[in-house]
Amino acid sequence: MKSRVIAVFFLVLFSTVLYGADQSDGDYVKSRELMVAKFSGIKPKIFSQWAPGIKKKMETREKIIALTLDACGGKKGNGYDKKLIDYLIENKIPATLFMTGLWIDANTDKAVFLARNSLFDIENHGLRHKPCSVCGFRIYGRKGTLTVSDAYDEIEANARKIKNITGKRPQFYRPGTAYFDDVAIKLTYATGHIPMNFSIVSGDAVKTFPWERLYRRMIKGVKPGSIIIAHMNQADGRFYRAFKEAVPKLKKMGYRFVKLSEYREILK
Ligand SMILES: [Zn+2]
Repeated sequence: MKSRVIAVFFLVLFSTVLYGADQSDGDYVKSRELMVAKFSGIKPKIFSQWAPGIKKKMETREKIIALTLDACGGKKGNGYDKKLIDYLIENKIPATLFMTGLWIDANTDKAVFLARNSLFDIENHGLRHKPCSVCGFRIYGRKGTLTVSDAYDEIEANARKIKNITGKRPQFYRPGTAYFDDVAIKLTYATGHIPMNFSIVSGDAVKTFPWERLYRRMIKGVKPGSIIIAHMNQADGRFYRAFKEAVPKLKKMGYRFVKLSEYREILK
């Protein structure tokens, strides 16, 4: 009997560490059942980074840009680009940070530290960094979530994890690989998140791109309302270098940086 109690204790402890504290509570299970009832049986037709419903820029003539930084997590993805973050803080440049549950578990102290700084918003990059699908669509060798229930866990369990450590529920969700299927997009909205992608791919995820190429992509690609994607979990210095060179140039061109949450109404 005693060993069974101990086993249950460790099981609960383990699943708490893995999924955040709320995944087994009644409210969570009930809302997951509602989502399963609502979306199961609908066959997705599109699997893309650009499907209808996904936001990718701010619709404006104002010279504003949003920097979004993903923290992907996992074996090779748990790094922290301290130089980049310190640069943002020193220069008071706001950014929207998309974190996975994996990254948060490996860097909880840093996630809390960043959440306390009003320059940054912590947003949802999924619990396990999976492409968001209701039928296991696959991209770049990564298998997406398998069912509505699985996709719900990917989004909602991480939203609750973020709320637990930051006190604020995330408003935006970007899956691992940034791919959604069309049913998963509807599910994303139903959980209270806006599906959020980008208009400028910095290219920092491609290891062979030198910093100059990342720099050029930002300077040549920029338009009023652009949203840049880069990573804060890769500390090889390329994006930091490119961004540091780009900021004075962009400022000269009349641009300033904003957080996505301040411009929700004009996302397109
Ligand atoms: Zn990622």
